[in-house]
Amino acid sequence: MLINEIFYSIQGEGPSIGKPSVFLRLGGCNLKCKWCDSKYTWDPKVSDNKVMKLDQIIKKIESYPCNHLVITGGEPVLQQDGLKELLSELKKYYVEIETNGSIALKINKYIEQFNCSPKLKNSGNLPYPLKILPTNKKVIYKFVISNKSDLNEVKKYCKKYKIPKNRTWLMPEGTSKADILKRSKWLIEICKKEGYNFSPRLHIMLYGNERKK
Ligand code: SF4
Repeated sequence: MLINEIFYSIQGEGPSIGKPSVFLRLGGCNLKCKWCDSKYTWDPKVSDNKVMKLDQIIKKIESYPCNHLVITGGEPVLQQDGLKELLSELKKYYVEIETNGSIALKINKYIEQFNCSPKLKNSGNLPYPLKILPTNKKVIYKFVISNKSDLNEVKKYCKKYKIPKNRTWLMPEGTSKADILKRSKWLIEICKKEGYNFSPRLHIMLYGNERKK
């Protein structure tokens, strides 16, 4: 499989925030978000992915004292055939996966939680159809918010795909503590008023945009 990094940290976003977790970061992505904080997984100019065999990946994951696994990227669902094989060997793990929601799933039975982050116009991508729908009860939705005006787009999107507010997290865009704090202040007020969940980006608040923390 094409792997970028495997490391042990805490989940910094979404409903499992604060959970000690092993992170498996896969290489490759089918989008190009302009504010992407993991370009090193897909941009040939800075990418440092490597091919790893399943037994190497399993050995590394099992070297950490933790049975909560977060699969991220890049877009990890691009490698779902490899993930099927891998996860069938990692049955003791609670597995959550981060995805942009553009690819239909074949790995539902191996995953406990899908953190689906559909990209809004602020990402610079063209709109794409959502392939991971809320009829799947394992899915929560996380939107990256740059400006207050993004809220209208979130509302329209959630109406179109029937995404309930209690399964929706709004998260400030930013790769520095200062940017996250600034946006968090007004975004929290929006969440309070509208009934969405707020997600900080705890890893950025703690470590900035450093890797492997
Ligand atoms: S979908 Fe995720 S990994 Fe891909 S470009 Fe966007 S932010 Fe980066």
